[in-house]
Amino acid sequence: MLNANPVLSQPINDPILDAKGIKLVVKRLDLIHPEISGNKFFKLKYNLEEAKSQGKDTILTFGGAYSNHISATASGAKAENLNAIGIIRGDTTTTLNPTLLEAQSKGMELYFVSREEYRKKGNLEFIENLKEKFGDFFLIPEGGTNKFAIKGTTEILQNQDEEFSHVICSIGTGGTFAGLAASIKPSQKLIGISSLKGEFIHQEIKNLLDKHHISPAGIMEIKSTFHFGGYAKYNEELIDFIWEFYHKTQIVLDPIYTGKLAFAVWEMIKKNEFENGAKILLIHSGGLQGNRGFTERTGIKLPVPVR
Ligand SMILES: *Cc1c(COP(=O)(O)O)cnc(C)c1O
Repeated sequence: MLNANPVLSQPINDPILDAKGIKLVVKRLDLIHPEISGNKFFKLKYNLEEAKSQGKDTILTFGGAYSNHISATASGAKAENLNAIGIIRGDTTTTLNPTLLEAQSKGMELYFVSREEYRKKGNLEFIENLKEKFGDFFLIPEGGTNKFAIKGTTEILQNQDEEFSHVICSIGTGGTFAGLAASIKPSQKLIGISSLKGEFIHQEIKNLLDKHHISPAGIMEIKSTFHFGGYAKYNEELIDFIWEFYHKTQIVLDPIYTGKLAFAVWEMIKKNEFENGAKILLIHSGGLQGNRGFTERTGIKLPVPVR
């Protein structure tokens, strides 16, 4: 069983919050574990237990070269004494980036496939071929979202979080949103900020909730206008915001998920989208390991967590 640090809830102080009568608190899932960060901790927890109870000794999963999920799976498998195989999208880079180097150093076996081949990751024949190649394994899908992941993410909110009127999180595959949707109270509103471009996300989340028989007790809303051009796209405004937020709070954000999330919350506050008296819980879903690789790739400096 993975061990969690106690989760800190950090109130944010800013004149704009006082002026608008809003309380904003960041739930620091980024601090939950030194290596298995944020929402990935919750998404992996029951997957690793399930793998063990099925008697599997190897985890296989998929991800991009900078993926938080790959990084967390490598650490989680190691902590649970399981072998890990990472099927990585894109050809082998001559020098591995920090994410992949670290995953490899934790014992994950990396296997690179072309983008075309990677697209087949859902089909049975592709999986069968992988079984011939690697032997039997417990499969975790890309991004880690399955029923075990959602079981884990329903544990993010705790009793003391009932006081919040709004819970706001970032959306990739929606596994985190789904777990929160299953656990919000009737008085609470859940807002998801999509890091992906496109209106498809509304239907995708609906399908996910249907599939897992989740009907939220409170209200839900998905915002699809804060993607900054699409997944992993960014601009100067976002980077500046990440630095400003860091100087104000000492909280590190990433440019893929949590930066866009916090930016969205701030915009919504400025535009009076929250009523006076609102109590907002911002879920910091972690994933800061990618900041080093981002800086290496783009030359743009970002804050990094002190370790
Ligand atoms: C993976 C990830 C997400 C997306 O989570 P989903 O459950 O796929 O929606 C959000 N934030 C961070 C930091 C992540 O690493």
